[in-house]
Amino acid sequence: MTKKELEHYKQLLLKKREELLREINYIKENSFKKTMKESSGEISAYNFHMADQGTDTNEREKAFMFAYRENRLIYHIDQALERIKTKTYGNCQECGNPINRERLEAVPHARMCIDCKSKEEQSKKE
Ligand SMILES: [Zn+2]
Repeated sequence: MTKKELEHYKQLLLKKREELLREINYIKENSFKKTMKESSGEISAYNFHMADQGTDTNEREKAFMFAYRENRLIYHIDQALERIKTKTYGNCQECGNPINRERLEAVPHARMCIDCKSKEEQSKKE
């Protein structure tokens, strides 16, 4: 991959990372605010889930799961940025073949080519 291409994917990764961080902060802030409200016993119009504690817990769990997934994604993005530094970016970590460019545009943090990825997913199912 040329220097120019590496730079292109680096920008993609950095942009995605920034978006993820913003989302995580948003989730954190919202969950935090909600917890504050609950502990003070305040019930407001936009907190209509309060009546149903089960739903509310579920919502928060979902938010945490989401944040967890986003954090993992950031980890993979960091790994990809590391590979850009060492110029190993864009090659499949399994077979060493170049990863399809279209795939990298869609998933810039991809570590594996489509073949190895589907093989991996297959072995997980078994
Ligand atoms: Zn591969």
